[in-house]
Amino acid sequence: MKNLYDVIIVGGGPAGLSAAYSAWQNGAKSILVIERDRELGGILQQCIHNGFGLHHFKEELTGPGYAYRCIEMIKDKPEIETLVDTMVLEVLQDKTVIAVSPEHGLLKIAGRTV
Ligand SMILES: Cc1cc2nc3c(=O)[nH]c(=O)nc-3n(C[C@H](O)[C@H](O)[C@H](O)COP(=O)(O)OP(=O)(O)OC[C@H]3O[C@@H](n4cnc5c(N)ncnc54)[C@H](O)[C@@H]3O)c2cc1C
Repeated sequence: MKNLYDVIIVGGGPAGLSAAYSAWQNGAKSILVIERDRELGGILQQCIHNGFGLHHFKEELTGPGYAYRCIEMIKDKPEIETLVDTMVLEVLQDKTVIAVSPEHGLLKIAGRTV
């Protein structure tokens, strides 16, 4: 983990993962996604019925299937890091993110964009 990121994203649901991918596509060199849950994917991990993905992926997926595709989009990209089991408590005016996790304790991470 670094002390400063180009982009810090709070929440690893489909919106956060898509934002990370988009930031990467647009040239951000260091991106951090912070998720309070132990897994990425957000609420879609609970939506086990199908019907997702028709617009974006052009196929019918379950919620976890759609979440998996979003996770696949960001994996193996050295510019994108994820931090799970970490709750963001506050974003300060100077874009410092205050977060806490059982593994790292209290964290202060600076972002150029949050
Ligand atoms: C019960 C239910 C059923 C649904 N059914 C459907 C459906 O059938 N079809 C459909 O299209 N949509 C459905 N939705 C809507 C769909 O789940 C949302 O549109 C989608 O999940 C929104 O994605 P998101 O990334 O914005 O938010 P989320 O999926 O909610 O992701 C936000 C993420 O941010 C994390 N987070 C929040 N605060 C913090 C913090 N302070 N620090 C760190 N992490 C944080 C959360 O843990 C979560 O993982 C349903 C929603 C619910 C609640």
